[in-house]
Amino acid sequence: MENQVRPLKMMGKLTDLVNKYWQDVWKSKKEGELVAWCSGMSPFEILRAMDINVVYPEAYGGFCGVAGISTGLCQRAEALGYSQDLCSIIRNSIGAIHGTPAKEQENLIYGGIPKPDLLFCETYCPGVYKMWEKYSRFYNVPLWVMERPRMHDAFSKEKGAHFVKEGIDELKEMVLFLERLTGRRFNIDRLSQSLVLEREANRLWWDSLELCQNIPAPMSVFDAVSHIFPYYLYRGEPQAVAYNQELKSELLDRVAQKISPMVTEERYRLYWDNLPIFFKLEEHIKKFASYGAVPVVAMNSFLYGSPEDMDPENPLESIVKLSLSVPGNRGLKGRIEFLGKLVEDYSLDGLVMQRTRTCLLNNMGQDDIMKALTEKTGLPAVVIEGDLCDSRLYSDSEFNQKIDAFMEILAQRGSRRN
Ligand code: SF4
Repeated sequence: MENQVRPLKMMGKLTDLVNKYWQDVWKSKKEGELVAWCSGMSPFEILRAMDINVVYPEAYGGFCGVAGISTGLCQRAEALGYSQDLCSIIRNSIGAIHGTPAKEQENLIYGGIPKPDLLFCETYCPGVYKMWEKYSRFYNVPLWVMERPRMHDAFSKEKGAHFVKEGIDELKEMVLFLERLTGRRFNIDRLSQSLVLEREANRLWWDSLELCQNIPAPMSVFDAVSHIFPYYLYRGEPQAVAYNQELKSELLDRVAQKISPMVTEERYRLYWDNLPIFFKLEEHIKKFASYGAVPVVAMNSFLYGSPEDMDPENPLESIVKLSLSVPGNRGLKGRIEFLGKLVEDYSLDGLVMQRTRTCLLNNMGQDDIMKALTEKTGLPAVVIEGDLCDSRLYSDSEFNQKIDAFMEILAQRGSRRN
């Protein structure tokens, strides 16, 4: 029987919501409202509670990658002197912002990125920090830099509590900075209300991910990377809650009817490490589907932390705890434990480790994690050389050869559930 790729019905709503987000940001900018650029887990909740619009330049790289225009934008950044070794998500943004002539920017996807009035950079990787300094000089706008210490395995509880306290102090300083800059008063009750909505949307998202423990899984990693965007763009707003509620309902229907997103019969269930290779999404879905294999879970899908860490009664503390506790910010042992649990909870048959050539952060420890997991679980693993936004750093033939060989191993072993 032929395999059938079945995108979620929510796909249409997703497209509409993402379009609306960019239209609204552009409209606000034209009407003179403030626009802040944020990196990573920057406390956008505080900005929104002060009526400041939020844009994520790194996420723009993902959109450009899926649209197939990111390599061209990376090349524009290189023409300005940036090395091809620099992260392609960052080069993509530079190519759009600095490498595209002003009169051509409106032809970019979503009309490009509206100019910032202020910048908030969480320094989660070295390239990000240097680029944000550059943006600040280029646009001559204030830059607020936040630290997020990695929660190493050996840290004591006291050390963790110390970082939370430091983070809260940092947020309080940020609030004073914003009050001075905008002349507006910060309202903590408004922040608490937005956290109520954020927690609700997050809980629904985690429910949706947990539904993928069913056999067959109703959604693949390749779906999740798209359907997380409403939560990402509308965190703390009712749109994210409504979207995730509908998403969960559709997934529940699929579970009841045993509908898989990619295959007629789900033979193998895989872990996918790192983000997908954006410019190859559709081809990769078809490749895995041809073997009846579905990547059903990725650590990246849990990127925004757990609803358990959100307490609207203590909003500043929640924001800090959320940022520190996300799986990707843990030490090696913490990440291995997290993934080891995914292997069991999601009944996995193998591990696909995507090595993003230009990402300094996500590749860190990947070999150690793979070794520990294969030893602990006995599962086979394959490393895919790839990149998020630069297609010159990826080879179709290499990908296909590696996946073909990996599938042979899976076929010899059979799926775990058998
Ligand atoms: S974490 Fe990786 S992909 Fe993200 S901005 Fe840093 S280097 Fe680029």
